Amino acid sequence: MPSTTAEREAMPHGMPVHEVVLLAETDADTGLSGVVAGERLASLGPNRLPERRGPGRLRRMLAQFHNPLIYVLLGAAALTAALGETVDASVVLGVVLVNAIVGYMQEVRAERALDALEAMVRTEATVIRDGTAARITSDDLVPGDLVVLEEGDQVPADLRIVRTRELRVDESALTGESRPAHKDPLPVPHDTALADRANMAYSGTLVTTGGGRGVVVATGADTEIGHVHRLVGTTTTVQTPLTRKLTRFSKLLTVVILGLAVVTVVIGVLRGEPFAEMVTAAVALAVGAIPEGLPAAVTVTLAIGVARMARRNAVIRRLPAVETLGSTTIICTDKTGTLTANAMTVRQVVAGGQRWDVDGIGYSPLGDHPPAPEAVREVLLAGLACNDAHVVLQDDRWTAVGDPTEAALVVSALKAGLTAQDVPERVDELPFTSQRRFMATRHTGGVVYLKGAVERIFEFTGSTDHAAAEELAVRGLRVLAFAQAHVPEDSPLTEDALHGAVLLGLQAMHDPPRPEAVDAVRACQDAGIEVRMITGDHLGTARAIAAHFSLADDAVHARVSPEEKLRLVKQFQADGHVVAMTGDGVNDAPALRRADIGVAMGRGGTDVAKQAADMVLTDDNFSSIRAAVEEGRAVFDNLRKFIIWTLPTNMAEGLVILTAILLGTALPILPVQILWINMTTAVALGLTLAFEPREPNVMRRPPLPPSLPLLTGALVQRILLVSAVLLAGSFAVFHLHGGTLDQARTVAVNVFVAAQIAYLFNCRSLRDLRPHVGFRRNPWLPAGIAVTVALQLLFTYLPVMNTLFHTAPIGWRDWAAVVALAVVAYGVVEVEKWWRRSR
Ligand code: ATP
Repeated sequence: MPSTTAEREAMPHGMPVHEVVLLAETDADTGLSGVVAGERLASLGPNRLPERRGPGRLRRMLAQFHNPLIYVLLGAAALTAALGETVDASVVLGVVLVNAIVGYMQEVRAERALDALEAMVRTEATVIRDGTAARITSDDLVPGDLVVLEEGDQVPADLRIVRTRELRVDESALTGESRPAHKDPLPVPHDTALADRANMAYSGTLVTTGGGRGVVVATGADTEIGHVHRLVGTTTTVQTPLTRKLTRFSKLLTVVILGLAVVTVVIGVLRGEPFAEMVTAAVALAVGAIPEGLPAAVTVTLAIGVARMARRNAVIRRLPAVETLGSTTIICTDKTGTLTANAMTVRQVVAGGQRWDVDGIGYSPLGDHPPAPEAVREVLLAGLACNDAHVVLQDDRWTAVGDPTEAALVVSALKAGLTAQDVPERVDELPFTSQRRFMATRHTGGVVYLKGAVERIFEFTGSTDHAAAEELAVRGLRVLAFAQAHVPEDSPLTEDALHGAVLLGLQAMHDPPRPEAVDAVRACQDAGIEVRMITGDHLGTARAIAAHFSLADDAVHARVSPEEKLRLVKQFQADGHVVAMTGDGVNDAPALRRADIGVAMGRGGTDVAKQAADMVLTDDNFSSIRAAVEEGRAVFDNLRKFIIWTLPTNMAEGLVILTAILLGTALPILPVQILWINMTTAVALGLTLAFEPREPNVMRRPPLPPSLPLLTGALVQRILLVSAVLLAGSFAVFHLHGGTLDQARTVAVNVFVAAQIAYLFNCRSLRDLRPHVGFRRNPWLPAGIAVTVALQLLFTYLPVMNTLFHTAPIGWRDWAAVVALAVVAYGVVEVEKWWRRSR
């Protein structure tokens, strides 16, 4: 906050526009020169918020210990130390440390993956430099830049407004006020509160209607949002409903296990066993039964899924979307640009009973074209005048700048030999909006050109003959009608003033379907997902295009306004659907927010839509939605695979101890050994499941209902089955072993680990037999197994390990038993799968 009078008076909202312009050494019409802008950028740095600083390294490391499970382990270490078992105590401590380091690294990795996403959805700004408008990335803005604001833009820096057109800005990100604030260039008193400074537009706020221009007065960390950012220091949460559910689940489990541990001690002591031994056993039970790897594995799996989606052009903005994507049952998609290429070419012009066919595809205006009759030229001129787009030759290709629909109209006019010189100067306009469905421009002398949806233009001209338009529409062409009116320059240009306009004719344009989108729609349908087309276009056109995608007529919703989109989302949700809905405009934001998966277009979409969305498509292409659904299902599969894989181990470890106490026999596996198993296998084996490629059939089965619990009855049964196998196997080898106690335990541990390796193969597919083996599809798997085997050999044969973990070298016969039991475990699960499938 400025304290001195001088500083306060230098605040831009208190100054008239010309002073601000003077102070910023810029020009209110032509902006900065490119040279000055470059110099300022070099000296002031990019217009970017400073790197988000998460918790410091030490803080983050310490946070790894803040976990009930770790408390249990630390308590266990203290108890063991008190009982004089210092080696065991230090092993437990060592394991706690390793666990913290692994957790730390996984967390950093996951966050880095998520942070990288933010950079993929960059905002751009329109800036006037040297008198011409250009799109640049917001990072390159400097103080003094003259920025053009349009509906749907995110304000890219702190701006002092110099010109407005019905400008309203949603400042809730900064002030919490949800009603959009009206903006106006007039100065306000110096002591006006931030929320009431009507002549300022602050970085990070959103233009909801209208437009305007402003001079940049602060960039990067100097902006108001930069101050807030510094104060608060954002925290990334990598939490989703699922991770929260799992955290709760592990807490509950911890309590249950602690209870069981106490029971163990009590039973043992009542049986006359030594207290110290019973405590050791209870510790073993506790550390064994708690699935310590679970929360980290979930985060990593989600992060990997997010990264995979990003590689396929679907950028996740809210992590829970990854989970929801897998259960999507209906996708409501735009037509233009998403299903079609949004590369418009006028094919036919209809005027005065004549038809003029237009050759060529794309935006090239070159080539030989038959001369256009006068009536046709009138229509083409209207299309050229009532237009904000143009075409340019870029790298030998003609490309559209602005709305492709309008660019097509420019091209058709150029093909007939018209040029910008033929258009009288524009005075004002009624801009196109999806609600209005038409646009009008007034030119010197009061001539007004109208263009828009046929029914809308016919309302003004009083025309009733739709035959020609219908005939073009059913061919899948987008038809626009053109009219001319006269509204004197001194009377306001309103919709009412346009009644009585004269119809000039029609232009019909072709927009080719995207071939890859045809496949993608079919893939979604095969996956049990309904696909619906939601378009602002004419029903006839929409149906003709839908037919290309084998979409039935009732999957087409035409002439839908943004409000109706919201209503559709609500209706589908009421019918029990999980809805993905695409959108790009400001008015789509409520529907995007309401949908279970709001999907915004990265190229054609407004910043407002992107902010409201859960996912942004960087290529605006329907096939990227399909990719995201596919990956979403794969993520969900992999999470379940990990859980299914990890729980039986924990359960069996707990059961081994409990059974030994109940039977009054020696422990087949010691607490430190249990810790060893959990720590090594969770990382080296379990995490490899997070990298599993999606199963070939992910898109050939119906969506999972969102209410479906992570563990279905069938999976719980499998967990019990595998636990029983592990329990029986380890008990058998322990008791049948003829060697020393240490050797018997070493064999039991190896049985556990070998069975976990075998079971990992079972878990690569939850349902299919002969899980699509092939190491190449997941190179982490053989690597993880190799590491595990090496670790087990060290554990068994290295003298230090023998001392630390109370192990002893074993012979080849023992290994044979280990491998045999692993094979049996694998077979049992596959038989169970087969039995379940055959039912
Ligand atoms: P979708 O992307 O869902 O297919 P759309 O692009 O067809 O929708 P809108 O952009 O809302 O939907 O356009 C609705 C109708 O308004 C179009 O069918 C067309 O008749 C008319 N229209 C489109 N663009 C313009 C424009 N720039 N000027 C005037 N009228 C337009």
